[in-house]
Amino acid sequence: MSNIPDCCYDYRYEQPQAQIVDTCDICGEGIYEGEEYYNICEMNICEDCILDFKKTAEI
Ligand SMILES: [Zn+2]
Repeated sequence: MSNIPDCCYDYRYEQPQAQIVDTCDICGEGIYEGEEYYNICEMNICEDCILDFKKTAEI
């Protein structure tokens, strides 16, 4: 087990009993129990989608 990088291990290991608590209003993916997400103006936005809204100010 020690030769598997943490990131791959987490990705492979989807919690089987995690419940969908809500759905992302942008991509429609389920938001699972214990997962962090954003609630902005009554919209649920998952961590993947919030990155799409992040911008770096540049001229
Ligand atoms: Zn999303």
